[in-house]
Amino acid sequence: MDHFLYRDGELYAEEVAIAEIAAEVGTPFYCYSAATLERHYRLFDEALEGTDHLVCYAIKAASNLAILKLLGDMGAGMDVVSGGEYARARAAGVPGERIVFSGVGKTADEMRMALEGGIRQFNVESEPEMLALNAVALELGVRAPITVRVNPDVDAKTHAKIATGKSENKFGIPISKARAVYAEAAGLPGLEVVGIDVHIGSQLTDLAPFREAYEKVALLTEELREDGHDIRRLDLGGGLGIPYTNSNETPPLPRDYGAMIKETLGHLNCEIEIEPGRLVAGNAGIMVSGVIYVKEGDGRDFLILDAAMNDLVRPAMYDAHHDIVPVKEAEPGVEPARYDIVGPVCETGDTFARERDMSVIQAGDLVAFRSAGAYGAVMASEYNSRPLIPEVLVRGDQFAVIRRRPSLEDMLNRDSIPEWL
Ligand SMILES: *Cc1c(COP(=O)(O)O)cnc(C)c1O
Repeated sequence: MDHFLYRDGELYAEEVAIAEIAAEVGTPFYCYSAATLERHYRLFDEALEGTDHLVCYAIKAASNLAILKLLGDMGAGMDVVSGGEYARARAAGVPGERIVFSGVGKTADEMRMALEGGIRQFNVESEPEMLALNAVALELGVRAPITVRVNPDVDAKTHAKIATGKSENKFGIPISKARAVYAEAAGLPGLEVVGIDVHIGSQLTDLAPFREAYEKVALLTEELREDGHDIRRLDLGGGLGIPYTNSNETPPLPRDYGAMIKETLGHLNCEIEIEPGRLVAGNAGIMVSGVIYVKEGDGRDFLILDAAMNDLVRPAMYDAHHDIVPVKEAEPGVEPARYDIVGPVCETGDTFARERDMSVIQAGDLVAFRSAGAYGAVMASEYNSRPLIPEVLVRGDQFAVIRRRPSLEDMLNRDSIPEWL
């Protein structure tokens, strides 16, 4: 459920008309609903009620400081995958003890930054990384709390680019090697083993792969405890999918996910961490775009938008579907038209949808891409020298620009021409 609904034929974000924001901010832009973000965070928090737990929002899904502040103020932890994300979490007021550091390629500088600024744990993904972290911690005279990310070799049954839990993926260490790696970790004085980490992929629409992975983690917990390790924390990653269409696609609810976690892991009395990103932010954001032209082609009509693949890359990158809806609802009884919906970027990949039935649209109309809150703004680029589009946050009847649109000068001024040229 989200808070982007029609009122009197007009799309609203909570109590603010999208058309009103567009008039003030210009198009295209991203718009987030605070109430939806809050609701989704709470669903996870409540799903784990009764268990010692921390919901660590995966910042990479949508990393605007205002979003991080909103979630951090509700008590959320954060999952970061770079020094930049660590800095964002801290700048949003999230204390180090609520930040976990994931990612396959942490540099020594990033490790230093987190150890100095405060960190809950590093999720270590390889033996070389473990040795590097040990060295940085010793240099700073501290012990780095770690989990080891294990790769459970399960098929997440999701898009190949976002599946991470098969043995051929670059993530984590093979679960079959885990006991040896933990033995090695225990011998490194700069590290303190606190638990196990697993994350098998994103946009999972079935609980079965999660269950399979968590059952393997439960067994491993018992084995590692027998080996003398104090396994007290289990980081279960993110990955719960969202419905991208209004069709009958129904991913599991956080409530059922939480129940399954308790069932597979509850007997171990570990603190549970989860790292949802997409489900928190995905349906809490839309991208609003203006129609520049309606172009009649040979056998098909094109809606040419002012948003493009550089602003929302998911359709080009993952063949992702987004529902695209008119901001002004169709009059009842008017036959829909069929369009290819494209952006102005100079490649055919810049196609958001093919043969999509929509109400009749004219140049100057506004359309909204639903479910664009996660992996939308954060993956945008300035390809074709199109400045990054702004982000807007709505709460109740208020809205604010939370990232402004850069001017063309801002964009040009980042380049420099050498004196000798
Ligand atoms: C991407 C990622 C997440 C978040 O995944 P979602 O599908 O957005 O929930 C969590 N943990 C790790 C380690 C990730 O890489």
